[in-house]
Amino acid sequence: MTTSLTRTGLDTPTGLFIGGAWRASNSGKTFDVLDPATGEVIATVEDGDVADARAAMAAAASAQDSWAQTAPRERSVILRRAFELIIERTEELASIITAEMGKPLADARGEVAYGAEFFRWFSEEAVRISGDHTLTGDGKNRIIVTRAPVGPCILVTPWNFPLAMGTRKIGPALAAGCTVVFKPAEQTPLTALALADILVEAGVPDGVVNVVPTTNAAEVVGSWMASGSARKISFTGSTEVGKILLAQAAPTVMRTSMELGGNAPFIVAEDADVDRAVDGAMVAKMRNMGEACTAANRFFVHRSVADEFADRLAARMGSLKVGAGDGDGVEVGPLIDGEGRAKVQRLVDDALLRGARAVVGGTEAPGPGYFYPPTVLDGVDPASDLMSTEIFGPVAAVIPFDTEDEVIALANDTEWGLVGYVFTQDIDRALRMGERLEVGMVGLNTGLVSNPAAPFGGVKQSGLGREGGKVGIDEFLEYKYFAVPRS
Ligand code: NAP
Repeated sequence: MTTSLTRTGLDTPTGLFIGGAWRASNSGKTFDVLDPATGEVIATVEDGDVADARAAMAAAASAQDSWAQTAPRERSVILRRAFELIIERTEELASIITAEMGKPLADARGEVAYGAEFFRWFSEEAVRISGDHTLTGDGKNRIIVTRAPVGPCILVTPWNFPLAMGTRKIGPALAAGCTVVFKPAEQTPLTALALADILVEAGVPDGVVNVVPTTNAAEVVGSWMASGSARKISFTGSTEVGKILLAQAAPTVMRTSMELGGNAPFIVAEDADVDRAVDGAMVAKMRNMGEACTAANRFFVHRSVADEFADRLAARMGSLKVGAGDGDGVEVGPLIDGEGRAKVQRLVDDALLRGARAVVGGTEAPGPGYFYPPTVLDGVDPASDLMSTEIFGPVAAVIPFDTEDEVIALANDTEWGLVGYVFTQDIDRALRMGERLEVGMVGLNTGLVSNPAAPFGGVKQSGLGREGGKVGIDEFLEYKYFAVPRS
């Protein structure tokens, strides 16, 4: 069950992947995948319903015991093979990502490398799951601690990194010995289905990974949450949906990992190297056209350098080439859809009404496609809506500040706490400010924190748990303790 993508000529799977087989939906329905650069249909995918969801969960549940029994090295070899296959197919996967999500091909290739790395990293972690062996204080008993896979997992991902958000969950789940049911975002199912194909080729047994694209996320995921078979949900997406899933996890006391929204502060102190800060800002703002949970949302710049920073950032942002992601030299693709673009325009209009100055950009590009020009706003009023809303677009809002205490209070004045960026040449100050920021990750003189070897995640309403790093696999493992008397 494949289709040839109109834009790329590539063949991609379009079915549901359940129990090791490609299937049509029980509902008989399909849905269209659109190219955000043109608004045109590029593929038609099977639309999973609750019956399909139940079949997927049954397949994951029945494969769980035998997958948990596989040797760690066997799981490791499969993940390593999947890593190599992804790298071999970089061009193909990058084209699919660009076609359905819009990011420029160069960025899509970057996502393929980043996404593949989670499989390599967790192939190495699969063989390092370890326990503990101690004695009770009185010496009369042994304490043997082992690690066991949590069980069948529900994985739900957003559209902004269609490959990497999947591999960041599938990698540790499979390494730990868990089977999965995976629902990719409605707007970007093709990358997830191509990934399923690769996992089959890498040797993943039937039922271990099941993929159900759908237009009815609430019903499909809801049926998994209520199934009684799932032991864990790992979700990446909005805080709003994360809260719904946390409530749905309560009746079965299900383990949860939540990678939710962000509202990252980007702080430039008066002693910062401004060139370095502008370089960092380009990455923290423009990676993925600003459609990233890690995107710098609020640029707090010391008043003495605020205008200089805004002008230099505007010069760099204004020179970026905007266009369809597969266009020659394109650096900024379209936003995901009309709704996302309208939200960006509304936030910009609000800031301008409150007295901000558009140094560059500020008005949406005419269609077709959902393009928005890179925009820098200077002198933004902290009461503006974009201070408390994820912009999810290529808009940098510069807010001047005067003192360290003031900027820390402003930066922490949000319900989110995913990441913060600090630019200063004073190492004591850098660490002090990083420690005072209420976030799970800090970039010191850098605009990029994401790395499969690091624990990614947030505090406050940005989520629960960590993905990647040495602790990423823990999210998919339970402790089991054996009490053994010494005779
Ligand atoms: P979203 O609307 O929450 O969607 C995320 C996923 O949840 C999609 O697969 C979606 O399906 C599904 N979903 C929607 N409603 C659901 C429901 N009632 N029950 C179960 N699943 C449901 O988020 P988004 O707009 O796609 O993604 C952007 C958000 O993700 C931003 O807030 C961003 O910060 C966050 N994000 C966080 C991280 C992180 O690691 N912290 C990384 C990337 C993105 P449909 O596609 O069918 O709606």
